[in-house]
Amino acid sequence: MAARRKLIAGNWKMNGLKADGLALASDLAGRVKGAGAVPFDMLVCPPFPLLFPVGDAVKGSGVALGAQDCHAKQKGAHTGDVSPVMLKDAGCAYVILGHSERRADHGESDAVVNAKTVAAHKEGLIAIVCVGETEAQRDAGTQTDVVGSQLAGSLPEGTTAENTVVAYEPVWAIGTGKTATPDDVAAMHAFIRGELAKRFPDADKMRVLYGGSVKPSNAAELMATENVDGALVGGASLVADDFWAIATSCR
Ligand code: PEP
Repeated sequence: MAARRKLIAGNWKMNGLKADGLALASDLAGRVKGAGAVPFDMLVCPPFPLLFPVGDAVKGSGVALGAQDCHAKQKGAHTGDVSPVMLKDAGCAYVILGHSERRADHGESDAVVNAKTVAAHKEGLIAIVCVGETEAQRDAGTQTDVVGSQLAGSLPEGTTAENTVVAYEPVWAIGTGKTATPDDVAAMHAFIRGELAKRFPDADKMRVLYGGSVKPSNAAELMATENVDGALVGGASLVADDFWAIATSCR
């Protein structure tokens, strides 16, 4: 099996003002710098207005910067949108795409996520492409159909382990305190790895993150689950102690 370095990614969502973001980012940057060699990559994804100040705060620390969305075009008449070129200019290495909140709140289809992923790749950004079933879909036993079809539609040709990370985030586990069991996570991650292997030659090197109410108390078990290559963390990424505890639970 290919060795895959864990990625611990914080999705700050629409939280925090400049002072909060700077304090959190500086705290994490200091911890990563002070820790020396760590067995994970750390990433923070603040809201758009905080990208530049947070980027300055983490510069040179080993903490990477990412955004939570981008447009599929490089520039133009798209009021309110932000392009991958702008993200690159702000110092981003990553961009989260197709988060379930964007799929739900902004009607983003797999085709839209696919186009954004192509645009992100073109700018050299690593796309973190999110997939996951709703509670009703899991209750109906259709979770693998749903996730399989999201993967097929959202990941473009040209996807590689270098330019893409997949995040499995069951919608019912996001922000709810409910977490999928390690067995459920292992089954879904094995399924995802198999689907990736059907299309992409380096699928065994691709990182597949788990997201959904990851916290210090469940992180070690989830991070030790087969085919789990890190975490996409919402709520707990806003508290430096909690996010750090999640990261350092990686072995
Ligand atoms: C997320 O939004 O990606 C997420 C996993 O949120 P939470 O950790 O709060 O469930």
